[in-house]
Amino acid sequence: MPLVVQKFGGTSVADSQKILAAARKAVRAHQQGNQVVMVVSAMGKNTDALIELAKEVNERPPAREMDMLLSTGEQVSVALMAMAIDSLGYKAVSLTGAQIGIKTDSSHTKARIHSISTDRIMNLLDQGNIVIAAGFQGIDDNLNITTLGRGGSDTTAVALAAVLGADQCEIYTDVDGVYTTDPRILPEACLIKQVCYDEMLELASLGAGVLHSRSVEFGKKFNVPIHVRSSLSDVPGSIIVDTAETASLAVSGAALTKDEALISVFDVPDVPGTIYKIFAPIADKKITVDMIVQNVSEQGNTTVSFTVPRGEVTDAIDAVKSSIEMLGGRIGRIDQDVSKVSVVGLGMAKQTGVANRMFRTLAQAGVNMEIITTSEIKISALVKRESALNALRTVHSEFGLDKVAPCNPAEPSTRGPVNAVSAAEVVDRLQHNLGMESLMIDDIAIDESQSRITLSKVPNRPGIAAQLFERIAEAGVFVDMIVQSYASDRIADITFTMPRDQFENAIVVANQVCADFGCEKVDFKESIAKLSVSGVGLRSHTGVAIGMFRALSDAQINIEAINTSEVRVNVVVDGGSGQQGIACLREAFSRSLD
Ligand code: ADP
Ligand code: ASP
Ligand code: MG
Repeated sequence: MPLVVQKFGGTSVADSQKILAAARKAVRAHQQGNQVVMVVSAMGKNTDALIELAKEVNERPPAREMDMLLSTGEQVSVALMAMAIDSLGYKAVSLTGAQIGIKTDSSHTKARIHSISTDRIMNLLDQGNIVIAAGFQGIDDNLNITTLGRGGSDTTAVALAAVLGADQCEIYTDVDGVYTTDPRILPEACLIKQVCYDEMLELASLGAGVLHSRSVEFGKKFNVPIHVRSSLSDVPGSIIVDTAETASLAVSGAALTKDEALISVFDVPDVPGTIYKIFAPIADKKITVDMIVQNVSEQGNTTVSFTVPRGEVTDAIDAVKSSIEMLGGRIGRIDQDVSKVSVVGLGMAKQTGVANRMFRTLAQAGVNMEIITTSEIKISALVKRESALNALRTVHSEFGLDKVAPCNPAEPSTRGPVNAVSAAEVVDRLQHNLGMESLMIDDIAIDESQSRITLSKVPNRPGIAAQLFERIAEAGVFVDMIVQSYASDRIADITFTMPRDQFENAIVVANQVCADFGCEKVDFKESIAKLSVSGVGLRSHTGVAIGMFRALSDAQINIEAINTSEVRVNVVVDGGSGQQGIACLREAFSRSLD
């Protein structure tokens, strides 16, 4: 009998009528001959209310107790849902994470799933029950209740779909599906019929809160097609799959993370190991760091800047202080009024001119970019929070995301038999040996074909990056990485890489632009090596970047630039150190390789 997992988010179970409506959807699927597992979130804004309550008692509540408290929200919903289904005349049993046997690690408030036992759920289903699972929670080896992080019910749903070999995983929410950007922020956003896992992973981790990014990791790893749709209507919604029609678009979506904080550490020694020493204590706290940038060295010292979610800034600062004690340096800037605007598209890896279009349109809108980082499939710019909405609207329109052709209804896709077998093997291996959410690395690679150019002390004002990269594009140069770092309120450094056979053209343009803008100097390295580790969910696995930094630090190799994405972390090192660097990375990650 086909098995369906249906997840209902907070707004979809916000009151008794909505609970009954969700119950009817599950009953309908059951009547159609499916076995049904529901995953339910806390009602409405109940989790927020519990967090507020905790803060009234204690400014920094112990994480274990937080989990004890927050898990109650989902427990209320599952019980009510089971009662609602019973009132419709069908059999239902509600289960907490612990009762299902969702085993996690002990990282309270951001736990990762190790394994899920399926016996109890399968028995209950075989007895004709609709099973209602509490989202977002699990239990560690010492029977402590854990939670998976805000929005984690999506992850529970996709993980259950994976271990149960479900035919469909439906995420019911309060919008019609995945849009080109948050439709509550930009009403002109369009529904996207199909999205690839990689694009969705990026969008979710860069602010598209419609899905918990780790749920997309599960989808990709275990080949679960995720169907996002409305609990309020029967609109077909969006399917997240391996290959989608959007894959050829340069930009298929845009996202905004409103609550970012920028931390700049000034005057740290520019020697191998610095980056590792700054980020190791942050990674220990499992804080996700993004937009790591470093300045051109001033008399052996440099500035390292990075962003963290605003809610984690206090913990991040505590961690940085401990590094500075060993390393030297000082925290020069903490800016909690910044937002990250990003565009994502698989097609941008093959097209030139995407970055300069984004920079040009932001400059025309008068938006200054404080920091820029790119990866193969995304470009992110850090801007002042007050200009974030304007920035998002501008780039969304520039890439025609408000004009995406009306979508055909998405066909609910189910897994094919071949994929189901291989997914089952992966589930089995990870459940029993490693842990379902453990890191899966599929490649460690070196690219020795590029050169690097850095313009240092560029005026920090709108339009500079746009002009530079327009002129670079006009010279026929295909830019790969772009990193704009923060030096002070007035100046920035811009680093970019390009194929070595285009270096001559690029350096001519860089020198001209440098003279035109009055920047200090053009620094370059004709021979660099880009070292990359690829896998799934790498940004949320804080250990990957830090593992790379540690391995290179141990080998005394200096890191010149970094970019991170959900599917790949790249670091640039001197060309002469490339082979040694790649050997170190292979050694460091040998156990994680498939
Ligand atoms: P749920 O409680 O169902 O899990 P969430 O609030 O977590 O719902 O997620 C749904 C919300 O995600 C929408 O109301 C919307 O505001 C927001 N959102 C952000 N980005 C996107 C996007 N790209 N597409 C659709 N919704 C988005
Ligand atoms: N109730 C939890 C939250 O609000 C989990 C979820 O809704 O996915 O974050
Ligand atoms: Mg959610």
